[in-house]
Amino acid sequence: MLTFHVISLFPESLESYLGASIVKRAQERGAISIKYYNPRDFAQDEKTISKSAGKKSVAMTYSERRVDNRPYGGGPGMVIEAMPVIRAIDAAVGKKITGGKSKVKKGKSTVKIIFFSPAGKQFSNEIAETYKKYTDIVLVCGRYEGIDARIKKAFPMTDISIGEYVLTGGELPAMVMIDAITRRISGVLGDDLSIEESRIASPDVYTRPEVIEFKKKKFRVPKVLLSGDHKKIEEWKVGRKK
Ligand code: SAH
Repeated sequence: MLTFHVISLFPESLESYLGASIVKRAQERGAISIKYYNPRDFAQDEKTISKSAGKKSVAMTYSERRVDNRPYGGGPGMVIEAMPVIRAIDAAVGKKITGGKSKVKKGKSTVKIIFFSPAGKQFSNEIAETYKKYTDIVLVCGRYEGIDARIKKAFPMTDISIGEYVLTGGELPAMVMIDAITRRISGVLGDDLSIEESRIASPDVYTRPEVIEFKKKKFRVPKVLLSGDHKKIEEWKVGRKK
């Protein structure tokens, strides 16, 4: 089974998408599992604890546990502090990686840690295909101006981008990766033939009824698809694929 460990300040933003349809079924069937870790839960460090204990041991409320701070060297926006994220990753897979440094433990578990960044390597089907073989994938979602880069010294990580645009956070990229990897795991789609590269797939698909009507215009299914002539149908699909 492949376990996705999502490190996010806003885990609730992933739950509805990943709790529906095929990805939901993949979890119910035990093909994948998704766990969430909020750096905020790992934000209260020893210093803060002893300081608040020194005062009247005031318990910090959830929202007081700050995880962001001003960037060194100036510039706009806020940066997520390294330690809450390092502790969250450690809680997720710390026991599974040797010495907190490079190389995954030999034997049962193989761990991959992803650092989402618009400047990272472009995610693709090929990457999804290799990643589906890991037992644990950690998805580190940035927000604001990003995360203190020293987390990359604490753990071996791969920088990944999902495209040439800048989003407000790494949560959408995490969902994109989980979705693209999960649908490639054998048995997850009803029919493994649905994985595009194993067949000729057309971007245009049609289903019942044969004729639909909208604003007095009729729209028909391309005749070739109704012909039953498989050779012709394949040729039509290849043409559509451009
Ligand atoms: N100035 C920052 C922008 C951070 S955007 C920079 O250039 O890195 C905030 C967070 O959203 C990032 O830390 C990253 O985790 C995520 N993110 C934004 N766009 C992304 C993309 N195209 N691919 C992957 N992650 C992205």
